[in-house]
Amino acid sequence: MALIVQKYGGTSVANTERVQAVAQRVLKYKKEGHDVVVVLSAPAGMTDDLIKRANAISKNPKSRELDMLLGTGEQISIALLAMALDELGQEAISFTASQIGIKTTLHHTKAKITSISTEKMDKQLKEGKVVIVAGFQGINENDEFTTLGRGGSDLTAVALGVALKADCVEIYTDVDGVYTADPRIVDKPKKLEKISFDEMLELAATGAKVLHSRSVELGFKYGVPIHLRSSFDNSEGTLVCNKELVENKSIITGISHQANEAMICIEGLPDKSGVAASIFKKISDAGINIEIITQGGGDGTQADIYFVTKNNDFDEALEITKDIGKLLGARNVKGLKNLAMISLVGNLKDTKLDISSKILNILNKENVKPIVLSGSDIKISVLLEEIFFKKIVNEFHKKFIN
Ligand code: ADP
Ligand code: ASP
Ligand code: MG
Repeated sequence: MALIVQKYGGTSVANTERVQAVAQRVLKYKKEGHDVVVVLSAPAGMTDDLIKRANAISKNPKSRELDMLLGTGEQISIALLAMALDELGQEAISFTASQIGIKTTLHHTKAKITSISTEKMDKQLKEGKVVIVAGFQGINENDEFTTLGRGGSDLTAVALGVALKADCVEIYTDVDGVYTADPRIVDKPKKLEKISFDEMLELAATGAKVLHSRSVELGFKYGVPIHLRSSFDNSEGTLVCNKELVENKSIITGISHQANEAMICIEGLPDKSGVAASIFKKISDAGINIEIITQGGGDGTQADIYFVTKNNDFDEALEITKDIGKLLGARNVKGLKNLAMISLVGNLKDTKLDISSKILNILNKENVKPIVLSGSDIKISVLLEEIFFKKIVNEFHKKFIN
């Protein structure tokens, strides 16, 4: 008998039939003698819809009120699944995050989990019930509702797995595993039987939304393997686990992409210590996320600094950078919107240069200008105009994976 945490995403609980299918799957595990804790997302599209409804009323709603609203979709799913299991004769009980004490930091809409109390869940499991928990939600030390960031139910599931010392965490979604690239974008990607935590983390952090990057980070930190599977069939899925367990045959494991990117370039910034840091502090104080920072050009007295952010943070980031750039004596601040970043993840320790030159050759052949190319031992990312990204992701996949 094992303790299993299963998370079902939006498409897996999109309607009555899907909720009933989840109930059947949970029941199967119960009948095999396992304890099951289920984490659910809101029905597909509901969180987007709630955001639209908020924005129809206010362009800039208070983040506290957004969190009051956004977590409600998950509450619908958990109550419906409890009813569906009841109908099958299986006792079940649903809980919001505040009811079971999923404590988070204060930050509304992007809170981090700080602790989880397992007492209530343990008691219900002992009584033979299936415990169903709302994903994505939390409660902070001021007793205010928080949410964990988009896609955050994955994080709830892995955090519960850690807190309950579960034997395994299964994430059920609408694809039957982690592929070498997003199957919605790339023609004939390959399914991976296993992938290491660190490679999955890089893919998730650079746009592979099949798993929330912080959920992978948490699994890695506490050694909890994550089994990604489809709720639409019984295939084996992909195991995200320690790298010792992964047989690695290729240099590039996977390719991810992220659209809606923007870049800001500060030209001729006096090359004194602390100058760049003061710009990034201002940007992060405004709650703007920076994805890549690179430094180029310069003659020892001046440097050019580039950073990548999101389209929707672009205007604010540009304004802040222009203001502080002027104060610090930068020659010019400019920006570009509607970009995309493509990242190749794998074992690049000895092949970075070779792969980078192949990337540049492909871009050259397709007449696409790389805006930034940056690399490490595990990832090479290239920033380009968004209109080209589908074509280029497919070209990279053909060249480096097929
Ligand atoms: P859920 O609502 O179940 O959390 P998501 O939409 O968040 O599901 O994640 C599943 C989606 O992730 C898939 O439909 C797929 O388009 C996308 N995806 C992106 N990259 C990959 C990849 N490398 N392998 C599999 N799916 C991927
Ligand atoms: N419902 C939330 C979202 O759409 C959380 C999740 O699905 O994981 O982002
Ligand atoms: Mg998701």
